[in-house]
Amino acid sequence: MICLVLTLFANIFQSTCTGVNERTFLAIKPDGVQRHLIGEIIRHFEKKGFKLVGMKLMQASEDLLKEHYIALCDRPFYSHLVEYMRSGPIAAMVWQGLDVVKMARTMIGETNPADSRPGTIRGDFCIEVSKNVIHGSDSIESARREISLWFHTDKLTCWAESTEHWIYE
Ligand code: ADP
Repeated sequence: MICLVLTLFANIFQSTCTGVNERTFLAIKPDGVQRHLIGEIIRHFEKKGFKLVGMKLMQASEDLLKEHYIALCDRPFYSHLVEYMRSGPIAAMVWQGLDVVKMARTMIGETNPADSRPGTIRGDFCIEVSKNVIHGSDSIESARREISLWFHTDKLTCWAESTEHWIYE
């Protein structure tokens, strides 16, 4: 019985997080905040047509950052990365829209700004891989994990966008 309830819940949750309701986690890193890029970066995603459903400016704890980057814990830059992410406030955000995970990664550019094309955020606003301004979830599974790590679901805002019919068929 409990399995049935859990399965139903999982299916309902999945169907509300796919299609135009797909969500991704983006974070403007401490260098992006210090360099006054918050407005510019938000504008990029707004202009594209994505919907902002959660946002907070916060100083992340070491525990949260270690958990967020757990997949990189064996990399030589891991502790430096956690230190960099702790060095100032982060603008944590959840964005929603069709294919938002993949498209946001395209808009962000490559991990190394040197490999990022002009027109992408990392291509236009930064130079070194260790100060690359923004994070974006790399898959739908990562997005789910990261959103629940950084936000309480009840703090995300479901709102009807009046321009939606100009963006989607
Ligand atoms: P992405 O942020 O593009 O998903 P990764 O998940 O591979 O890239 O890496 C996470 C973050 O770790 C990067 O955004 C960057 O801040 C940092 N990083 C990655 N590679 C290096 C490196 N070689 N040296 C220093 N920092 C790095």
